[in-house]
Amino acid sequence: MSGLPNRAQEYTDGSTISVAVVGRDAHGELVISAGNDQFFRITGGARQDLHAFPVSFDVLGSNQARLELRERLEACFESGEAQDFVQDFWFDERMQRWRLSLKPLLHASSGAAVHEILVTGFDIAPNMQLTHELEVSASRFRAVVDSAYDAIVTIDAQHRIVFFNRAAENMFGYKAAEVLGQRIEILLPEQFRANHSRNVQQFAASVKTSLRSMTPPRMDETNSVYGRHRDGTIIPVEISISKMVVDGVIEFTAVIRDITERAELISLLKKQAVTDALTGLPNRREFLEFVERVLDTDDVLSVFILDIDHFKRINDSYGHDIGDEVLRVLASVGMSIPHEAKLFARWGGEEFVAALPGADTRVAQCIADTLRQRFEDQDFEHTWRVKPIPFTVSIGVVTRESDERDVDALMKRADRALYQAKESGRNRVEYG
Ligand code: GH3
Ligand code: MG
Ligand code: MG
Repeated sequence: MSGLPNRAQEYTDGSTISVAVVGRDAHGELVISAGNDQFFRITGGARQDLHAFPVSFDVLGSNQARLELRERLEACFESGEAQDFVQDFWFDERMQRWRLSLKPLLHASSGAAVHEILVTGFDIAPNMQLTHELEVSASRFRAVVDSAYDAIVTIDAQHRIVFFNRAAENMFGYKAAEVLGQRIEILLPEQFRANHSRNVQQFAASVKTSLRSMTPPRMDETNSVYGRHRDGTIIPVEISISKMVVDGVIEFTAVIRDITERAELISLLKKQAVTDALTGLPNRREFLEFVERVLDTDDVLSVFILDIDHFKRINDSYGHDIGDEVLRVLASVGMSIPHEAKLFARWGGEEFVAALPGADTRVAQCIADTLRQRFEDQDFEHTWRVKPIPFTVSIGVVTRESDERDVDALMKRADRALYQAKESGRNRVEYG
C-alpha cells in the first residue's frame, strides 16, 4: 500500500479524476490510506501531506454528501459489492456532480474480507454542460424553424420525411407526427409523383448542392412547382432545395414558400396584359401572337378586319358612352361566331379582328357575311340602355398563302380588303 499515495498523486493530481483508498483502523473506524488532491477538494478535506497517511475519514469534515459517502463506504465494506453512484459535492462555490465508484480491494492475505476500498470519481459536469448546450441549441433551432414563414421539410436518402416544421404543417394541413417517416410524394400533386423520385436522385447524383425553382414559377410551364394540401388543393410554391450530409448520410432540405397570392396576381396581370379593358376581348397583342403561332404551322388560316361604319357619327349623335355600348355589343356578338378555335379580338378603336384557323376563303367569307348581316338586322340579344342603335360594319377577309408566314403582311392585305369594302359603299365584305 505504501506506494499508492505517491502513484495516485503523481498520475492524477491536476486532473479531474479523484482517487482514494479507504480502509479501517484497529478500532474499525474509516481511515483514508491514500488520496489525491482532487479527492480532498471535492470532499472538502484539507490536502494531505504524503507522510500523513493514513488519515481519519473525519478530516473530510461533515456535510450531507460526505455523510452519504461514509454510509456507502460502510455498506461496501459490509457487502463486499462494488458501488457506482452519482453524488453532488459543493465546492469551488458551486454544486458539482461526480460519478463515484467504490471498488472493494480483496487482499490475498485476508481471504474474502474487504480491507480497503478503492474510491474513484470523475466530474460529469462537463458532459452535463455539453448536454445542456445541445438542448439549448436544439430548442433554439426548433424555435427558429417553427417561427419561419416558409415551410421547411427534410427528407432522407429514401425520400422519407424526417423533418417538418410548423409552417409546413400549416401549408400542407398535416401534423408533423402524421408525415414523419412517410414518403415526400404525399405532399405532391398526383401528376408529379411518378417523376419525383428520379428528379431527387438526379439531384443527389449531381455536384450541385442547391436547387432553386424559377421565381416565380410560370403557371403555364411544365416545370412549375406545386405542392398538394391534405384536402387536395394544389398550392403553387417557390422552392429551394439543399443537399447536405448529416452524420455521413445524404439529406435534402426544401424551403418552400406558398406563392398562391403571387401566382394569382401574376395570372391576373398576365390576363390584363392581353385583354382589352372595355370589351373583355383579347387585345391586339394576343391576336398577333395567336396568328403568328398558326403561321408557324402549315395550317389553313383566314383572318378578317371589321370596322364599324361611320362610328364617329354614333359618338357624335349619342355620346361616347353609347359609342362604348356599341363596341361592347359588337364584342359579344363577335365572340359568338360559330367557328371552333377562332379568336375574336379588339384591334383598336372601333376595329375588330378575327382569326379563323382551318377556315378557307369560302368559309371565312361566309362567316364574315353572316356576322355583317346580323349587325345590319340587329339580329342579337341586347337590352339597350337608352334605345337601339342601328349600325353596320365593313369587313376585309384574307386567307394565308400556303407559304405565307409574315403576320404583318397578312394583316396589311386584310386592311386593304377592308378599305375596298369601305370604298365600295360600306356594309360589305371584301376579299383581298
Ligand atoms: P368609317 O366608316 O370610314 O370607318 O367611319 P368612322 O367614323 O368609323 O371612322 P373613323 O375611324 O374616322 O372613326 C373612328 C372613331 O371611333 C373615332 C374615335 O373617336 C372613335 N373611337 C375610337 N375608340 C373609341 C372608344 O373606345 N369608344 C368610343 N366611344 N369611341 C371610340
Ligand atoms: Mg376605323
Ligand atoms: Mg369606322
